[in-house]
This record gives sequence, C-alpha cells and structure tokens, in this order.
Amino acid sequence: MDIHEYQAKEILARFGVPIPHGGLAYSPEQASYRCTEIGGSAWVVKAQIHAGGRGEAGGVKVCHSDRDVQDVANSMFGRRLVTKQSGPRGKLIYRVYVEEATDIARELYFCIMLDRRIERVCIIASAEGGVDIEELAATNPEALVRKTIDPAAGFLEFQAREIAFALGLEPALLAEASRIFRRAYRAFRDLDATMLEINPLAVTTKGSIVALDAKMSFDDNALFRHLDISELRDRSQEDARESHAADRGLAYVGLDGDIGCMINGAGLAMATMDMIKVAGGEPANFLDIGGGASPERVLKAFRAVLHDAKVKAMLINIFAGINRCDWVAEGIVAAFKELDVKIPVVVRLAGTHVDLGHQILRDSRLPIITADSLADAAHKAVAVVGTVGASA
Ligand code: GDP
Ligand code: MN
Repeated sequence: MDIHEYQAKEILARFGVPIPHGGLAYSPEQASYRCTEIGGSAWVVKAQIHAGGRGEAGGVKVCHSDRDVQDVANSMFGRRLVTKQSGPRGKLIYRVYVEEATDIARELYFCIMLDRRIERVCIIASAEGGVDIEELAATNPEALVRKTIDPAAGFLEFQAREIAFALGLEPALLAEASRIFRRAYRAFRDLDATMLEINPLAVTTKGSIVALDAKMSFDDNALFRHLDISELRDRSQEDARESHAADRGLAYVGLDGDIGCMINGAGLAMATMDMIKVAGGEPANFLDIGGGASPERVLKAFRAVLHDAKVKAMLINIFAGINRCDWVAEGIVAAFKELDVKIPVVVRLAGTHVDLGHQILRDSRLPIITADSLADAAHKAVAVVGTVGASA
C-alpha cells in the first residue's frame, strides 16, 4: 500500500527526521491560509498524488505570495496529474500540501528498499539527488552508494557513517546525516514498510538537512498490525480493479492484457499466465480465488474480472485439491445467470469431482469452451481473443 507525501513526512517526523513546516489543504482558500499559519515569504505547493515525477509535470510549484499559492492550488484541484510514474490516466489531485520553501544547497538521494533478489533490505543513496534515480542508475551507476542490511544486526552506525562520507557531506553534517539515516530506517522497520524514498534529502543553505520529499509503501500483509497506517489508504489513487477485488477478499493484480484469469492457487495462476504468454496472448490480471472457493466466491471473482473493460475473453483454470470442481462449475453457471457475460469463457477443470463439474457445465447448455489441459486452455483463450479482435 502506498501513502501520500505529507503522510510519509508526518511519519518521518514522528521518528525524528527533520521535515519543513507545512500543512495540508483541501481547497485553494485553505492553501492560502496555510501561508499565514506557516509564516515566511515563500512557499511550495505540492500536489498530493501516489506517484513521483510531479516536479517535471507541474505538480510542485514555488510561490511568493499567498495569492499566488491560492491560484496555483486552484489550478491543481480536480485535475488528473500525469507524470512518468502515474500511468497514462494520471492521478486525481484533491489535496495539496503547502510547505515553507527551502533554500537548497545540495540535493541528495536516500532510499530504503527490499532487494528481493538477495532477500535483504538495502539502502541506496547518492550525492546526485533530486533527479530520476532510474535514469541515474542506467547512465551513472557509480554515483549510487549501496549498503545491505543484515536482519539480525540491523542498520549499523558505521554503515550510516559510510553512507554520509560517500555522499561527500562536510564533517559538521556527518553525525546529523547518519542519525537521520538510522531514524528513517527505524520508521521503515517498525512499520513494516517495503520502500521509503527521500528524494531529495536536502542540505539547506543554512547548513541543516531536511527531507524535502518522501515516499513510503507498506507490506499489505502486515497492515493488520498497523491500523493507523492502514487508515491512510487512499482508494482514489489506486487501480480501481484492484481495490474492487481487495474489498471482496480476492488476491487480484491488474495487468495490461485482454485475457481475464480466474485460477485457484498462486503457483497455478503464475503458470497459467506464463502459458498465455507462450501461446501468444496477454493476461489482463492475476487472480487467485484460493483453496475452498464456494460458488459465491466464484461469482465475486467473475465480477472482479469483468469489472475490467479490457477483458475480451476469460480463462478459468481450476485444479481442485481442497477445492471442488462441482462448486466452481455451480459458481460459473450462477455467474452467467446473474451477470451479463458477453465474452467467451474457456474453462479447464481438474481434480476433485471433475466429472460432476463437467456434467454441471454441460447441463447448463451455456456457451462455455472446455479445455482438458493448461496448455489447451491457454491456446483456446488466445485463439478466441484473436477472433474477438478480428470481428471488432
Ligand atoms: P517529485 O517531482 O514528485 O519527486 O517531487 P519533489 O517533492 O521531489 O519536488 C521536485 C523538485 O522540486 C525537487 O527535486 C526540488 O528540486 C524542487 N523543490 C521541492 N521543494 C522545494 C523547496 O522547498 N525549495 C526549492 N527551491 N525547490 C524545491
Ligand atoms: Mn522527489
């Protein structure tokens, strides 16, 4: 789960990481009022969306009067901001964050993330902050400092100091920088985050260090033990397909293709998506309906898949161990009755009560395409999408 910049900054501040003074606004008037509250003579208005790259896209503006802040905020509210990271539809701006402007001497990069390849949390930092880090990694990988954290030992003092040295900080700032790094790590660890990025971490002209931007993501499977964090969920920023499915307790991940998938078991789901690709197609989603899927659950899953307008055909692949093919078949029949299923549906059933399952599908006389293996199902789904595409 992702959160907004201002929320990530509140969390960082709680852990002792310095952030600029700021306040949230839901209206242009409130934004201009924030200027009086914050004081000073220059402010930054920042669109709050779940995507980076706002600066380049016009979502971060420095202003010199409260009137200016109000106008800038007014131009942001209600707009969908499209950035490099937002996806082509962009994300709706309905909150802006107003901050005192900072005089920046240097922009650093600091990030804590999970490296799934080596199964460790790692820290990536760079003296060249403020820029697009993916670009920097591609063009100038030597500019990145990398530290791996041993889960038993944690993020050690000397590692933090090594990072501070590597960033070329002046001696007076080394201790403060290492403190900030370790406090950020504590926030990451204590809250079960999967990513915490501060870009830029700024050195000000006055010689202090502040987090000017902050991005945090959390492990969905650990949210149950951080109710205050899970309350920060903002559905307006999420993939509509995914939040629809999450509300119904389904493990769903939206993808870009046109073959909707409903499968039991995460491993089988991944294998099925691979088979679709091998057969020349593209899956529209990952969806694991789980072990003991009742007909009601199958119906819910049907709704989740059909919620995606890109879906041109559906592939149902069930290997019933704990599950029962007759339940799944009943669910499919119920879905055809309740929902307006206009697309071809390919079904492959195997395992417990498979004969009964097939019987139910046959008796229903529904236009279901059956398949007798995973490969057969994938090829049939891809073929049928090809014909749908051709007739459209
Ligand atoms: P992002 O583009 O979504 O990553 O948004 P950021 O919060 O990182 O802002 C983008 C850029 O705006 C930063 O890299 C800074 O260069 C600039 N910026 C942000 N806040 C301030 C500020 O208070 N003062 C100044 N001078 N520049 C700022
Ligand atoms: Mn940034």
